[in-house]
Amino acid sequence: MEKLLIKDGYLVTMDPRRRILKRGSVLVEGNRIVKVGKEIKERTDRVIEARGRAVLPGLINAHTHSPMTLFRGAADDMELDPWLREKIWPVEARLKAEDCYVGALLACAEMIKSGTTCFADMYFFMEKVAEAVGRSGLRASLSYGMIELGIPGRCEEELRKGEKLVREHHGSFGGRVQTMFGPHAPYTCSPECLRKVGERAEKHGVGIHIHLSETEKEVREVKEKYGKTPVELLHSLGLLGPRLLAAHCVWITEGEMELMAGRGAKPVHNPTSNLKLASGISPVPAMLEKGIPVALGTDGAASNNSLDMFQEMKLAALIHKGWRRNPTLMPAQTVLEMATLHGAKALGMEGEVGSIEEGKKADLILVDLRSLRFSPLHQVLSHLVYASSGELVDTVIVDGKVLMEGRKLLTLDEEKILKMAEETASRLFEEGDFKEEPHEELFELEDELERKKKKRGKYRAVYRKAHR
Ligand SMILES: [Zn+2]
Repeated sequence: MEKLLIKDGYLVTMDPRRRILKRGSVLVEGNRIVKVGKEIKERTDRVIEARGRAVLPGLINAHTHSPMTLFRGAADDMELDPWLREKIWPVEARLKAEDCYVGALLACAEMIKSGTTCFADMYFFMEKVAEAVGRSGLRASLSYGMIELGIPGRCEEELRKGEKLVREHHGSFGGRVQTMFGPHAPYTCSPECLRKVGERAEKHGVGIHIHLSETEKEVREVKEKYGKTPVELLHSLGLLGPRLLAAHCVWITEGEMELMAGRGAKPVHNPTSNLKLASGISPVPAMLEKGIPVALGTDGAASNNSLDMFQEMKLAALIHKGWRRNPTLMPAQTVLEMATLHGAKALGMEGEVGSIEEGKKADLILVDLRSLRFSPLHQVLSHLVYASSGELVDTVIVDGKVLMEGRKLLTLDEEKILKMAEETASRLFEEGDFKEEPHEELFELEDELERKKKKRGKYRAVYRKAHR
């Protein structure tokens, strides 16, 4: 097995003792960390000189919708309802599998370049997202976003799609891709449907990724319809458990927090999205106080509009201080825990990732400390949360493989992705005649012979073959 040494970095381990080593090294063998220490003298196949750089566990974006990068900046500053009805849904209705692939590739490239090594995703055409994750080298937990909307027979149809993803992709790409069921929300899926999701998730031993108590309107409507709050509803259906990944949890009461803590459910805080859509501010400090391991996410790029977890960490640290008028809330260390250890717990991967410890998977990032904005270096944790930016991530390693070095992507072609994304987005947002043909760049990924055979009807088979 190949041995890689990350040498003499400023190690922020996030281990149980939260050790920070001013000069430390990490030895990686295959895809695992085998040694962490001040000095490691071992012959290795490769050495990454980390002097002047912070080495920390890769960040975990616990809630996003990767193909929505294509919607970035297409519509801002609107009420949620017209935003969805006029801007998002009409374009989503025209989305093809290939478009989602391009959007997911763009998201993967952006995440690697800003230090995210693992993410939880919910959207459509998730087999294409799995392909993008596979190609990029990232780690992810993917779920098909089920939307029932009271349409008869729709639940079964959506369940089939969700189950297909679980069957085909749970543990794919050497275990880098995991899956969950993804019922969109308690207001888009009926209680009967949610109950079925719970049973199906139990059967497959996978988690459930859902939007929960995001807006005041949602809580009011669910209460009116079912006589329970969204959290109580999930509890009554048996979904509130350690495998529940609940995005937002903005409008939850003390009692519901106790319930979530008792059941081991995992909320995900998405501060930018909650502010941008004016949903409110989640009571994160209160949840943390109750021992709930709240994770952190960006949500989709349509409501953020970036996937930069450093930006998200800073905002998470600041809004609660301001709102509660208490500067001691959400210290840098807590926020970094949310973006690493808690993210790993939320995705059911705490035994594998989230910290730099012997035996864990080698998901690490190097952040350049030689930047003007990190000087002087009083406290590395403070700089990482309050002064950093994803742009300062220099090197990214996932599953022992280097995905970016010196800010150059090694698994993805950045130029090509940019071009494909521009073309896909302009085609999607073009009014009137919507071209159904996938663009040329996708074919360039295939070999010369197959390209000659290019015909619309043959596209799928050729494409699949080239990407297996
Ligand atoms: Zn979301």
